[in-house]
Amino acid sequence: MDFSFTPEQLMFREAVSHFAKKELEPYVKGMEATDRFPVEVFKKLGDLGYLGVHFPSEWGGADADFISFCIVIEEICYVSAAIGINVLLHSLMASAPIYLVGSDEQKQRYFLPAMRGERIGAAGLTEPNVGSSAGDIETTAQRVDGGWKVRGAKMFTSNGPYCDFLTLVVSTDREKRHKGISLFVVDSATPGVVLGPNIPRMGIAGGEAGSVTLEGPVFPEKSLLGEAGKGFYYLMEALNPTRVALAAGCVGLAQAAFDHALRYAKERKQFGQPIGKFQGVSFKLADMAVEIELARLMVYKAAWLADRKEKLVKEAAMAKLYASEMATRAAHRALQIHGGYGYAKEYPLERYYRDARLFEIFQGTSEILRVIIGGQLGL
Ligand SMILES: Cc1cc2nc3c(=O)[nH]c(=O)nc-3n(C[C@H](O)[C@H](O)[C@H](O)COP(=O)(O)OP(=O)(O)OC[C@H]3O[C@@H](n4cnc5c(N)ncnc54)[C@H](O)[C@@H]3O)c2cc1C
Repeated sequence: MDFSFTPEQLMFREAVSHFAKKELEPYVKGMEATDRFPVEVFKKLGDLGYLGVHFPSEWGGADADFISFCIVIEEICYVSAAIGINVLLHSLMASAPIYLVGSDEQKQRYFLPAMRGERIGAAGLTEPNVGSSAGDIETTAQRVDGGWKVRGAKMFTSNGPYCDFLTLVVSTDREKRHKGISLFVVDSATPGVVLGPNIPRMGIAGGEAGSVTLEGPVFPEKSLLGEAGKGFYYLMEALNPTRVALAAGCVGLAQAAFDHALRYAKERKQFGQPIGKFQGVSFKLADMAVEIELARLMVYKAAWLADRKEKLVKEAAMAKLYASEMATRAAHRALQIHGGYGYAKEYPLERYYRDARLFEIFQGTSEILRVIIGGQLGL
């Protein structure tokens, strides 16, 4: 058993942290003000190989491990959860399935430019009427001359408003439910594919997400990813690492909230002494420190399992469940420690509080994760 990061991973963390603070943090104010994503960020990250460090260098990655990818997401989310989330969904939900089961042509057309940050991907699973119950999706594809005619709509598609390509979850046989689901990868400019505008949200300002309406576009046969009817299986292969990386993002966000709160507790004086000297404050910080440590251990254990190609359904669900609820608690406590200043826009505490809440909802709500963990326990 070895709980330490390797010297390479530690050096890599330093480099990503430096990059995130220097190159990404300056975008945060503008994203809060405009709710727009600075798309040039993808190219900056792609140039450094950060969009897919764990993929082979011949496909635009950096031959590193999945632990390193989680480090990337943790350090980006320390600075901006909105950037971290949209980068993560581009890399793991829109692009990874192409690497996993795509043809060489699909990899050349979508995966390689995605890893270089030259083309931005979005993944469409959620629909207006279907979220958690993925087997019930209503977007359907029917075989026609030259391919598949697709009708339906996707909702809350991160990167959707400005994406270059879409990895879409579509039913090619509704009667078979999960076994009738297929994945398609298509250019977003395909006639009949309509990208909706950004949907205003509580937090994650600038992490744009919109609808995608499919008004009967015909997707050519070569846009099918892998085999028809196996899409649900491919989706699960992508979802487990996504949950682990999202949990890493929660650790980054919680660490940022904690660092602010610890500093403030040492500086702010009331009743003639630093507020951190009051047990009511120091216990909050102690609890935060314990929970961040625990979540980080869970994240990197699950990432380690992913690197060993071991089963990680339960560990991925546990890491995301615990880390997301922990991040909400950490943001709540850190805001409380800042008093009125925590509620003021001048400080990032209220942003952490709004942003943390999303992690409990998407890519598996806390309730669905408990259902999965229960299932893994044989219930
Ligand atoms: C900012 C943002 C970005 C997103 N990005 C993407 C994206 O890029 N791609 C994408 O496909 N989706 C995306 N989503 C969608 C997200 O994954 C879904 O919102 C999420 O999966 C939940 O689905 P839903 O909203 O339809 O809720 P529902 O499934 O309708 O659930 C509503 C409530 O019922 C509960 N519930 C449902 N079933 C059960 C059950 N069996 N047991 C107990 N409770 C249950 C849920 O936990 C929840 O509390 C995004 C969402 C947001 C807000």
